Amino acid sequence: MPGLSADRFDVLVIGGGITGCGVARDAAMRGLRVVLLERDDFASGTSGRSSRLVHGGIRYLEHGQLHLVRESIRERETLLRIAPHLVQPLAFTWPIYSGARVGKFKLNAGLFLYQLLALGKSHPHSSLNAAQTQEREPSLGSTGLTGGAVYYDARTDDAKLTIANALSAEQNGALVASHTRATEIIRERGKAVGAVATAKYSGETQEVRARVLVNATGVWQNDLAAGGKSRRARGSKGVHIAVPRERVGNRDALTLISGVDGRVMFCLPAGVQTIIGTTDTWTDESPETVHASMGDIDYLLRSANGYFPRARLTFDDVVSAWAGIRPLASGGSANPTAVSREHSIVADESGVIHVTGGKLTTYRSMAAEIVDRVQEALGEKVRGAPTDSVELPGSDRSVEVAAIERDDPRLAQPLVVGLPYTGAHLVYGITREKAQSLSDLLIRRTHLAFETRDHGRSVAALAAGIVAPLLKWDEQTKSARIREFEQDVGRMFAVA
Ligand SMILES: Cc1cc2nc3c(=O)[nH]c(=O)nc-3n(C[C@H](O)[C@H](O)[C@H](O)COP(=O)(O)OP(=O)(O)OC[C@H]3O[C@@H](n4cnc5c(N)ncnc54)[C@H](O)[C@@H]3O)c2cc1C
Repeated sequence: MPGLSADRFDVLVIGGGITGCGVARDAAMRGLRVVLLERDDFASGTSGRSSRLVHGGIRYLEHGQLHLVRESIRERETLLRIAPHLVQPLAFTWPIYSGARVGKFKLNAGLFLYQLLALGKSHPHSSLNAAQTQEREPSLGSTGLTGGAVYYDARTDDAKLTIANALSAEQNGALVASHTRATEIIRERGKAVGAVATAKYSGETQEVRARVLVNATGVWQNDLAAGGKSRRARGSKGVHIAVPRERVGNRDALTLISGVDGRVMFCLPAGVQTIIGTTDTWTDESPETVHASMGDIDYLLRSANGYFPRARLTFDDVVSAWAGIRPLASGGSANPTAVSREHSIVADESGVIHVTGGKLTTYRSMAAEIVDRVQEALGEKVRGAPTDSVELPGSDRSVEVAAIERDDPRLAQPLVVGLPYTGAHLVYGITREKAQSLSDLLIRRTHLAFETRDHGRSVAALAAGIVAPLLKWDEQTKSARIREFEQDVGRMFAVA
């Protein structure tokens, strides 16, 4: 772990999800000496299991969370500007059926407010009659369809957005280490002064010292609490399923009210697939092993079938199913859907700054708030960083991948017929995106594991052969890494 123990850093960030990577980028851009430790891969936690939306969160209007919606819309516009290669506008059709919980008047009033909160910066929404709704989405059931609306939010690649922040932090001088776990916080005279870090693949352990520590471990944060005190964010489990898009027949994204329980849910186009999600139920499951249950999948299929009656989706249509846990700042409510997605930033008695809650969408503004607290703790004048105007890295990816393919045409072959990933994407993942394992490559640098029924198992050996020379894997290491990948996808895509 070169460089980790060389010096005392200004700030040690523990956790390489969107929160930790956003904090590392902001702090590095302010000129602080930053180190970030991530136990697995960037975005291997909740940040790689989201609905992949950068959105104002229209459903939060129902709960009166105008402040959160306003902030989310502002951040959506910022991300569209600084990361056009990672965040793109997405049109949502919201169909309305007679007797719906959210009727035409309520929906139009909500979208009007949504538009107002965007201060004229977003695409205008429009109302649709039944024929126009059906024209936009012909596979929707027509019985009882009274109309609908079309409005705009944005889509992203959650893992790549997280990785882009890690790369940007590094470009600004931060030391960013994945597959390196903080096993313990070092406290001297009651004050946190660093952490013990263990690298997964080398087994090396060393102390990392810093003046201020930020615990951005999301649903894992209890593991690092002072004196073992419980401060775990209560988690809400969210499950998504991917089914072939041709089976659903949706053209664009749809916002739906589940006929099963009246919750807002999404059908999202993702290449040749449609992602349907999400559930929202309190869970005590471990974040390492959280997975979809048959009941979760049944709920999503029944909800979607209510809108797409001709599809008659069944369990056999499900290509993959996965779950994530939302770290929610307040866990008092019986209904997790009603709990705010706002965040809390709390320093414990030893000075560690713990972050809970938030959204992918608002990570940048949340990170700025956290780094303000870091600078206060350092006794420095608080001065912001231009994180809202400097572009995130990665816009040259397709050009670079094409260059790798030109240099070695064998790397231009698709790994799986019908999916857009080639050997060159793996090489790029290793050389430019800090990937170290097959799971990093097949789950997060590409989404191949989400998009194949065997979750990438049949190409694991091929992928290992391509990257082995770059990562200096011998035959034994190669086999071990294939086994590790099989265990990872076995856990992540289990259904039980
Ligand atoms: C189903 C679902 C759908 C969602 N959809 C959206 C959406 O569409 N849009 C949106 O804006 N938000 C969405 N969210 C919310 C969003 O995904 C989360 O708020 C966000 O990803 C949380 O990021 P995080 O960095 O705080 O946590 P995480 O991503 O979980 O990161 C924590 C990291 O800490 C690491 N870690 C843990 N312990 C240690 C240790 N000891 N040492 C080092 N590292 C450690 C973990 O490996 C992990 O990578 C969704 C959430 C869920 C569950």
